Amino acid sequence: MKTVSIIGAGLVGSLLAIYLARRGYEVDVFESRSDCRVAGSDIGRSINLAMSCRGITGLSGAGILPIVKELMVPMRARAIHDEKGDVKYQAFGRHHDEYINAIQRTDLNKILLDEADKFPLIRWHFNTRLLHLDVSRKEANFIRSDGSQFTYAYQRVIGADGASSQVRTSLQQQGLVSTSREFISDGYKEIAISSASSNHLAREHLHLWPRDSLLLLGNPNLDNSVTGSLFLPLEGENSFSSLDNAPRIKAFFEKAFPDIAPMVPDVAGDFLNHPVGHMSTVKCAPWHHDDQCLLIGDAAHGLIPFFGQGMNSGFEDCRILNEFLDLYHDDWSRVMPAFYLARKPNTDAVSEMSTDNHNEIQMGIRNQRFNFKKQLEQHLMQRYPDRYVSKHVLVMFTNTNYATALAHGRLQSTLLDRICNQATQPADVDWLRVDELMHEYDKSLAQTHDQTETA
Ligand SMILES: Cc1cc2nc3c(=O)[nH]c(=O)nc-3n(C[C@H](O)[C@H](O)[C@H](O)COP(=O)(O)OP(=O)(O)OC[C@H]3O[C@@H](n4cnc5c(N)ncnc54)[C@H](O)[C@@H]3O)c2cc1C
Repeated sequence: MKTVSIIGAGLVGSLLAIYLARRGYEVDVFESRSDCRVAGSDIGRSINLAMSCRGITGLSGAGILPIVKELMVPMRARAIHDEKGDVKYQAFGRHHDEYINAIQRTDLNKILLDEADKFPLIRWHFNTRLLHLDVSRKEANFIRSDGSQFTYAYQRVIGADGASSQVRTSLQQQGLVSTSREFISDGYKEIAISSASSNHLAREHLHLWPRDSLLLLGNPNLDNSVTGSLFLPLEGENSFSSLDNAPRIKAFFEKAFPDIAPMVPDVAGDFLNHPVGHMSTVKCAPWHHDDQCLLIGDAAHGLIPFFGQGMNSGFEDCRILNEFLDLYHDDWSRVMPAFYLARKPNTDAVSEMSTDNHNEIQMGIRNQRFNFKKQLEQHLMQRYPDRYVSKHVLVMFTNTNYATALAHGRLQSTLLDRICNQATQPADVDWLRVDELMHEYDKSLAQTHDQTETA
């Protein structure tokens, strides 16, 4: 019998288990936490996620999109709330039907586990944490929540154990991969905005309250409530460490987010009760050892969350791994290196774009030139629909390689800068000159296309 062991029953591990069981593999999944369906939601980890095209395609390939779709809430535009309470809207897509979707992490994880349960070939081992992997002996050491330890002989193991992956650490300790993990100086916390009070927030939007070094994000839920994610520096003024008591927290909220403060009835309690999450970029090379051990999802390429692509790229990993298994008839000695070589340039590219987006959201979103560029992009996409497709559209609404999207984005940035040097609002744009610039853009695009499409 073909057997694969997966470490981690998070979003990627549980979707991967379904893909492999559909191919006839016996799958053992080891998860350090308890079963989230039995034990209730992950405390403080119920942050909402934005699901876009790659995530949807990944779910569809495993045959479970229709059931997951029922949990999704469309988000058609960013709603950017300024200090005075005014709101500006920026559409995500080119038309009304191009949108991303909010989904609750825990609800999604539960449904993935339920769908995986339909395959008798999948066996769960909850409350079982990997301590160490010994690849020379093909043995994994685990500890159960009752403190008992055991050794398990595996045939093939896939590390889907997230950004702090113990599989990756074990490979690194044995000198088989080189890795890096860089934390950013911001953390995040969940803030619940109740359904009754969030009624006046426009539905179907991703809400943003950008304030210099602070950012509050609001994702809509099915019940009309909004789950907020507050991003703050970990240290310094107005940081998670300085906001350490109720009066300070209340005063901070009333000053920074006066429109939202009345909608969070117990803002200090909410703030103090939720843990601070940390965010990092993970890089690793290679992602596999021979044909016996592979890393996937955040374990291989953790991203900071400012482009909403961590889960999406992880689900794309699952789909593409499955395609390589088709291509090489389940010969893992060919699948693992081919998968790594195909994915690595693309996950490096999305990592770079996530960092750029972080800077964009923090610095640019309230900047006039930045907003003009966003407007310009919409004009360009209407005027040259077959020629200008923005980097954001390529990332969110297509399965185009991330490396290709990044290359397009660089050329688009140059083009937008050249237009913005001559005009400050859409009415002032000399469109005949833009027609000329578009020819140069087309030529440069054709040159980069050949290089990146093969990645
Ligand atoms: C604030 C925030 C917002 C985000 N927003 C988005 C978004 O909008 N869109 C998007 O696409 N992505 C988003 N992400 C990223 C997304 O959450 C991750 O990319 C995704 O969860 C990765 O899935 P994973 O299964 O690889 O890892 P995880 O979800 O971290 O799952 C890993 C699993 O492995 C288990 N595990 C860990 N160590 C061990 C061990 N030693 N033994 C056994 N089990 C172990 C863990 O308990 C966990 O269940 C966001 C992330 C954050 C922090």
